[in-house]
Amino acid sequence: MLVHTIKEVRDIVNSWKKQGLTVGLVPTMGALHNGHKSLFEKSAKKCDKTVISVFVNPIQFCPGEDFEKYPRTLDADCKIAESAGVDLVFAPNPKEMYPNVQMMTSDFLTYVNPPFFYVNKLCGKSRVGHFDGVCTVVNKLLNIVQPNFAFFGEKDYQQLVILKKMVNDLNISVEIIGCPLVREESGLAISSRNKYLSESEKQDALALSKILFNIKNCFQKGVTDIAALKETAYEFLNEHHTLEYLDFRDAETLEDKNIADENTRVFIALKVGSVRLIDNISLK
Ligand code: AMP
Repeated sequence: MLVHTIKEVRDIVNSWKKQGLTVGLVPTMGALHNGHKSLFEKSAKKCDKTVISVFVNPIQFCPGEDFEKYPRTLDADCKIAESAGVDLVFAPNPKEMYPNVQMMTSDFLTYVNPPFFYVNKLCGKSRVGHFDGVCTVVNKLLNIVQPNFAFFGEKDYQQLVILKKMVNDLNISVEIIGCPLVREESGLAISSRNKYLSESEKQDALALSKILFNIKNCFQKGVTDIAALKETAYEFLNEHHTLEYLDFRDAETLEDKNIADENTRVFIALKVGSVRLIDNISLK
């Protein structure tokens, strides 16, 4: 079922709750693919009812980013959702989520600001304000749906860590479930933004997963020096690539690592032409 208003979602979820049913929520921005589908299936397995949101959230895009051109494919999304056991699709428009807000800045809107320590690294460094927008909208969605469980992909690992922190710090009554990153057969991490890539750029985009798999391979052969592991990336980079970061961090706290170990997660952000892509891998 597809609904567009907060009232409809609340009424439907309330009727489920009255029957004692458990509810899972999967927030998305739509342009759904198999990565999203894996989250829906996980929720459908764990919960009696699954709600997904499809909302391209304006306040998590930075100036100059792709808010306007972000793919919007609601009809196809509903079909994918249904095939993965989703019970309710909530697709609000921006006015429904941010009514009477003259400008979507913190001068006019109550924001949830995650801690600087978690934000001032990886994607948060270049995407200033992005995680404020993410935490604000996820907080709103959690308040609207009031699910027992909410599912987020490890594809956006920094986001997952920040949202767990938010739920913990603000005593929000939901359990956050992290779900493994889903890749294409080629190794490319599936992303709605892969739609921006031409065929040749798709080939260039394989550099992200190749770099990560190679680092993991070297680590498993005994290399733990991070400078040496970073050095191995360069053989996969060419003139079409702009490396934004290649970082080794603690998987729980996102703290910088001096030496790679099993608790290390490796993060990469790379521009292929004008398309910015991210990926990450556990060294465990
Ligand atoms: P998005 O629509 O990009 O905001 O993503 C919605 C949710 O799907 C987020 O929790 C993402 O981390 C997750 N997700 C997106 N791509 C993948 C993927 N390839 N594997 C696993 N989860 C994903």
